[in-house]
Amino acid sequence: MYAFTPTDEQKALQREIMDFAVAHLSGGEELRDRSQQFSREWWAAAGRIGLPGLAIPEAYGGRGLTPLSTLMALEALGYASRDNGMNFALSAHLLACVVPLWLYGSEALKEAYLPRLCNGELVAANAMTEPSSGSDAFQMQTVAVEEGDAYRISGAKSFVSNGPVADGVLLYAATDPERGFLGGISAFWLDRSLHNYRPGAPLQKMGLRSCPLSELFFDNMLVDKSFLVGRLGRGAMAFNRSMEWERVCLGGCHLGNMQRLLEMGIQLVKGQLGSGTPRHERQAVSYALAEMQAQLESVRLLAYSAAWKMGEGKSVSREAAMAKLAVSELYKKISLYVATLFGGAGQPNGEVERSHRDAVSSTIYSGTSEMQKNIIAQSMGL
Ligand SMILES: Cc1cc2nc3c(=O)[nH]c(=O)nc-3n(C[C@H](O)[C@H](O)[C@H](O)COP(=O)(O)OP(=O)(O)OC[C@H]3O[C@@H](n4cnc5c(N)ncnc54)[C@H](O)[C@@H]3O)c2cc1C
Repeated sequence: MYAFTPTDEQKALQREIMDFAVAHLSGGEELRDRSQQFSREWWAAAGRIGLPGLAIPEAYGGRGLTPLSTLMALEALGYASRDNGMNFALSAHLLACVVPLWLYGSEALKEAYLPRLCNGELVAANAMTEPSSGSDAFQMQTVAVEEGDAYRISGAKSFVSNGPVADGVLLYAATDPERGFLGGISAFWLDRSLHNYRPGAPLQKMGLRSCPLSELFFDNMLVDKSFLVGRLGRGAMAFNRSMEWERVCLGGCHLGNMQRLLEMGIQLVKGQLGSGTPRHERQAVSYALAEMQAQLESVRLLAYSAAWKMGEGKSVSREAAMAKLAVSELYKKISLYVATLFGGAGQPNGEVERSHRDAVSSTIYSGTSEMQKNIIAQSMGL
């Protein structure tokens, strides 16, 4: 049973990551945000303590953490590293690309790619969404047609985080369009140095701007069958499992960011409230912050318990949806409130405002809030 308190080992892990982030992953975030710049230096530094491979077994070069410890590690990263875009790029790489490659890839693919994906050498992207299929991810138009020992793939993907800089892509394509979700989708690993796909230009983003995002185009691209990830027609399983990981663990970055934002808000308010502040004014702001701290504690526990259950090898479709919904909605609320506090005090704060821009898309990626509610409602028989 999950004990609801981090172990000494988990506390030490969080301390290690926070100290490392302050020493080696800090600085330059404002410029990267302004210029929409991804940082290979930041990535390589993160690789030095194994952040891109937190959940991957040590035998493949990862840190071998459980889902719960992975979540706590990302929480420490979100708290101490102020570049939410790079934190997101790293989490998407780990949870939606490297984890499914580890769980479903062939031994040959794992040996060839996992060590370099874990040590900060390679960047990965996952490509599911298409211009005409987002929430309804399985209405995809990208098709892979068998041709001898290979597949010929044609189509286009959109909103691919890390797309312009990725060295490897986990691509989902229809191998049997008529079967659709049940057996018709397969996953492929693409190596940019071997496979002839074309990334589009980086798209302009409101937030998470240091994580570049683009379309990817596939024009009769030939991919050897050895690059199938999992069995033919079982791509939906890999995708769904990777989304469970992402919905549960990526929220760690948001939990850490929210905690930092609340602390910044508390510091601001402490400096503003004097002995002459009327009680109603003092209460208005302190009650709001107290309520948000309580909400943060509760969504943290929701995410922790989903991660714990995932670590037990159980399906967490419902728990992951609840954690994702609650964490991302609170992230938008807290970041907006703290930005308003600073603005209202006549001290607009770039970091807080950036966090709010970063938070806005959290209720969209990994499935929108409405889609999470659909999953939860379905689990309730509705
Ligand atoms: C910052 C960011 C990064 C992303 N990174 C990636 C990535 O790396 N790889 C990738 O493949 N994709 C990525 N995406 C795409 C993301 O997964 C999709 O945007 C998301 O699934 C929603 O799809 P859509 O934008 O096409 O919206 P739509 O599916 O068109 O939805 C539009 C609106 O309708 C609602 N809606 C749709 N269907 C239903 C329904 N059945 N019930 C109730 N409401 C519904 C939605 O909730 C939403 O509010 C990213 C998106 C963002 C914003």
